[in-house]
Amino acid sequence: MVSLDFHPTGRHFLQIPGPSPVPERVLRAMSLPTIDHRGPEFAGLGKKVLSGMQQVFQTPHPVVIYPASGTGAWEAALANTLSPGDRVLMYETGHFASLWSRMAARLGLEPEILCYEGADAVLAHAPGWRQGVQAERIEARLRRDPDRKIKAVCVVHNETSTGVTSDVASVRQAIDAVGHPALLLVDSISGLASAEYRHAEWGVDVTVSGSQKGLMLPPGISFNALSPRALEASKTARLPRAFWAWDEIVAMNRDGYWPYTPNTNLLYGLSESLDMLLGEGLEKVFARHQRWAAGVRAAVNAWGLPLQCADPLRHSPVLTGVITPEGVDADALRKLIHARFDLSLGTGLGALKGRMFRMGHLGDSNDLTLIAMVAGVEMGLKLSGVKIAGGGTQAIMDHFSAHAAGL
Ligand SMILES: *Cc1c(COP(=O)(O)O)cnc(C)c1O
Repeated sequence: MVSLDFHPTGRHFLQIPGPSPVPERVLRAMSLPTIDHRGPEFAGLGKKVLSGMQQVFQTPHPVVIYPASGTGAWEAALANTLSPGDRVLMYETGHFASLWSRMAARLGLEPEILCYEGADAVLAHAPGWRQGVQAERIEARLRRDPDRKIKAVCVVHNETSTGVTSDVASVRQAIDAVGHPALLLVDSISGLASAEYRHAEWGVDVTVSGSQKGLMLPPGISFNALSPRALEASKTARLPRAFWAWDEIVAMNRDGYWPYTPNTNLLYGLSESLDMLLGEGLEKVFARHQRWAAGVRAAVNAWGLPLQCADPLRHSPVLTGVITPEGVDADALRKLIHARFDLSLGTGLGALKGRMFRMGHLGDSNDLTLIAMVAGVEMGLKLSGVKIAGGGTQAIMDHFSAHAAGL
């Protein structure tokens, strides 16, 4: 028999940037009996989570919930708004942005990729994976599109492979500055409910998100937040879609139901996590993550290791990427830390494989969990013979002591 009890003693430290640690409250809520998804009680649950998600996305317009991982919601955003052969402008900030453009190509779209073109002394082979989106480059490209061939601009809000956050409002301003009709599609799969996000105010047409990051749920449900323009575009878009089609879902959601079986127990969990997040208040949630991130960066700076994010204005509040010195295999370091201290860290993805690791500070965490994470990493660095300048664990303790939580 396979044992599902992976926890020898105490709690496993799940410090990857998603799936994030799930609060006990959410796990307990999910253990309630599954109910009839066409029955009278279900409508109350459905309406509650749909309106709660509008608050989290900060939009008065419809939010769609899919029983799928974030990748499914990526596909839904493209398939509902675009037609075969449409040109889409995609900005490559890291692994997830490049996966999304690969998906666009597979769906029969024509992705055109923009990327930062400066040099980088630390990471010469992937300079753009240390930077956020430069809206002025999008603006310049749109100006060279007099025939309006570009139908959508796609950006990742919080690039989970690097720990770099992009300024989404500036992308909307760039599109509007040209008076270009392209839709703005944004992946905030790992940003939502941890990093500040305003779907309606920032003029986003479709925001894609998922359950297992800032929303503190297990993997399995994902989201599209829509704009009136996105809904309008979906009426004439010609990419084939059935499971992902917004029209039937949005129509049935008005009464709190779905056209097919929704993920009932994950919706119980979502209802609970919405109570937690909205009860705390989104502004406080965002401030909490900023403070945690600053503490973790203080530790990395004390070690003297380079942060993956090279732009001080774009540090992610969700995770911190750390570049290991040349010749130190970041995956061997992660393996050692996992074996010795029961602590999981995120791996370097794509072009960053073996060169960096990622520390998550999202989900059900607190100051002491993050101090323990930093202590585990510090022990691992020393055991691996990595030369560090100073004590990161002392630095994060000092940071949290000096900066009280709360607004
Ligand atoms: C996690 C993540 C994805 C992929 O979502 P899945 O749930 O694994 O399908 C895509 N984009 C970003 C930015 C992510 O963090």
